[in-house]
Order: sequence, then structure tokens, then C-alpha cells
Amino acid sequence: MSVDKYEVIIGCEIHCQLLTKTKAFCSCENRYGGMPDTRVCPVCLGLPGAMPRISKGYVELGAVAGLALNCNIAEFTKFDRKHYFYPDLVKGYQITQYDVPLCTDGYVDLPQNGSYKRVRIERIHLEEDVGKSLHLEGAHSYIDYNRSGTPLIEIVTKPDMNAPEEAALFMQTVQEILRYVSVTEGNLEEGNMRCDANINLKIWENGKEFRTPISEIKNLNSFRSIRDACTYEVKRQLEEFDTDRQEFVLGFKRTMGWDEVKGETVIQRTKNSFVDYRFTTEPDIKPFTVSRELVEEARKKVGELPEAKRQRLKKEYGLSDFDVQTLTSSRNLVLWFEEAAKKSKDPKKAANWILAELLAVLNEKEQDITEIAIKPDHIADLVNIVCAGTITSKQAKDVFAEMIATAKMPSDIVKEKGLAATTNTDEIAAFVKEVIAENPKAIADYKSGKSNVVGWLMGQVMKKSKGKATPATATKLLNEELAKL
Ligand code: ZN
Ligand code: MN
Repeated sequence: MSVDKYEVIIGCEIHCQLLTKTKAFCSCENRYGGMPDTRVCPVCLGLPGAMPRISKGYVELGAVAGLALNCNIAEFTKFDRKHYFYPDLVKGYQITQYDVPLCTDGYVDLPQNGSYKRVRIERIHLEEDVGKSLHLEGAHSYIDYNRSGTPLIEIVTKPDMNAPEEAALFMQTVQEILRYVSVTEGNLEEGNMRCDANINLKIWENGKEFRTPISEIKNLNSFRSIRDACTYEVKRQLEEFDTDRQEFVLGFKRTMGWDEVKGETVIQRTKNSFVDYRFTTEPDIKPFTVSRELVEEARKKVGELPEAKRQRLKKEYGLSDFDVQTLTSSRNLVLWFEEAAKKSKDPKKAANWILAELLAVLNEKEQDITEIAIKPDHIADLVNIVCAGTITSKQAKDVFAEMIATAKMPSDIVKEKGLAATTNTDEIAAFVKEVIAENPKAIADYKSGKSNVVGWLMGQVMKKSKGKATPATATKLLNEELAKL
């Protein structure tokens, strides 16, 4: 092969199901699974005369997604019909948005080597999902129409990605953002989000530049399959260019599938010219204005996005990359933490309690942070009584366990159990004197210069106090007594 070098070019189209209560244009419940054809009605079955109506929250969720991905939201928009024939498309057309999409000109910044790589978003439009073909064993295929009419957004990027890993990271980043703003469940395995990757190569050979034909790999539903399918396709296109000299022609496009088992892309059909979908404005739904109130409401729902939050938390609280990554893994968790941090004298300690102890409890109980009986105030209280020296960090562990078991406030637990650490100097001084008197060998060692026995003596003082002595006071008093020897 005489290829000098090549560049990978990838653009993505992501279909993402929205979390509305009902389907896009009817009152059927919008959820996954169930017995086939149990959530259908004349509208989503496309029966003659049925009238579609835009469902509550549909346009707003689209706007939330658009704002979260830095798009402009159209002031005026409409729905269109896209005609084609396929068994899972009951009406013979799909309701979508053609020339006036709800959202345009956005971007997503992908973290890359300590900086960011920007992937531009051309448009996000609203459309409806189709039914689901089931190719079961036997002579027949079946179709489940429960999914027919499910509200979707389609996110279309510019061809800004230059590596299979980047395409996978893009999907992952979009999933994180859209889950964070509660636009979608985002479960890839349930088909909530599916990615089509458009990929071709720029090749330089003997100083001349070539472009390979575009392949569109359909319905990739895991980060891994995006990466693997694109990686395979790069190899395949290089080989094809080498043997057949196939070059890019406008309008020529291959539609491919990804065979996960074989690890190969499979050609499904070849488009030799633009397919005519005979787009027409949807006559049953009036074009509509998107009120600025709706956009402002949507903007409030977006709030601070995960990456911005991570950067801020790192700066404000001195947390590590790993810590902020864990905290922002769910919006509920990070908001919970922020509330606890705000009320804690030492926010970093609040983070530590949550990351080290509370998450272990949640894991064990298989609970979400919103399901647990304690509130951010509990963690803040615990941090504050440790900071104030009311209890030692050792006692705090027991108080934490009691707090989880009973949901009582740490300061109440301390009062009830009489746990308060003693800062009473006389009391601690008495313990120190006893320890010195009871351990002549250690004292002899100390006098002969073995300073490491101090730590051991300190341990004895703490033990005598049953963990209630404040370590700072005990250390101070022990050192004073030792100095007198
Ligand atoms: Zn319906
Ligand atoms: Mn689409």
C-alpha cells in the first residue's frame, strides 16, 4: 500500500428517546417493554382519520436537550412528514422536522488530554420512533408497535470527530449530559439512545489527496460497538481503496450494520442518489411558536452541567478528579453533596464521608441517595461536631453507623450516649499521669532516646479515656509531662 497518511472523519446521528409521560402525539403511555401491542391507539397505529396532538412536555424536553448541548432554540417551528415504506412504520410516513428544526448550532466539548475537543452540533430535531421488528426463530418476523410514536430527538453533528474513540466518547458525553438534565433514561441496552456513525477517510497517496465513500453504520447501541465498528470500517475502507480505488461521490452512501458477533460491518444497502422522502409539512399539526417562557423554563432545568460542576468542585473544595467524577455520576448525588458541603465547616470532610462511607452503605442497600433516610444536614452535623472537637474521628465512625441505623442527628446520638469527647484538661492530665506511672519500661526507653514510644504512650492515654480524650489536648499534656521527666 502506498498510502502516505490518512485521516478519519466521523459524524454522528444520535436518536434519543425522551422522558415524557405519553407518546409524542397520543395519550398512550411512554415506557419500555411490556406485552407487544398493549400500548397502542388509533394515532400511533396510524389508523385513517386519527389526529395527532403534541404531548405535554415534548417540545420543552427537546429545548432542554438543545440548551444542554449549547444550541439555539427556534422561535418558530413545525413538524413534517417523511415518507418511506418499512413494515415497522405504520403510517407509511414518520412525523419529524425537516427544514426548521427545534435546535441548531450547538456543540459538545469532549475532555481530551487536559483540554477539550469541540464537536459541533448541526441540529437537533423532534421526531417519532417506529415499531420494533422482532426476527424470532421460525418462518415469520413480528412487529411490536408499543414503541411506535415514542418521542425522540435526533442529534446531528458536523463531521468533527477524527478517531473511533472520539465517537464513543461523544456518545458517552451526550449520554451523561442528557441523563443529567433528565431528558432521557439513556439506557443504551434498552435502545433509549442509538447512534448512527457516518465515516470516511481522507487519504494522501504520492502527495495526492483522496476521499473514500461515506459509510453510515446504523444503530450502534454501546460505546464499545461505536468504537469497534468505526475501527473495523477504517481498516475496511483502507483496504477497499487499495484494491478498488473507490472514491467519494456526492450522493453515494453505503448503509451498514454492525455484526457484534463476527466483529464486522455488513453492507445493508447502497444509495446511489439522494432518496426522495417527499417531505411535506404535517397537515394535522399547525406550525407553532416556541414561547420564550418555555425556553427560560428549559434553561432553568439545565442549570450547571456535569463538566462545569466538576471543575468548580475541584477548585472550591480541593477535591481530586476521581472524587468529582464519582460525585457527579448522578445529579441527585452531587446536589446532595453540595447541600451537605454548604453547611459543613470542612466541606472536604463532608465529601470524604460521602465518598468513603455513605456510598458503601448505598451500595450495600442498593439504594439511591434520594431513598436513604438521612439528609445532607446529618453529614454536615457529623462533620461539624468532629471539627469542633466534640467527638474524636474514631468516635465519629460509631456515630455514623448509629446515624445510618436510626436516622438520628449525630449531635443527638452524642448526647444520648454521653459520647462527647472530653476537653477537660484535669481529667486527661490524670490519664497521662497514670499511663506514665504504669509503664516504666516505655518511659525508660523514652529517656534512652527512643522517641517512637511517644505514639504508643499516646495510644494508651486514648485507650484509658475510652477514646473520649481529644487527641490534641492529650498530645499536648503528654508531651508536657514527658518533658518534665
Ligand atoms: Zn397511541
Ligand atoms: Mn431520524
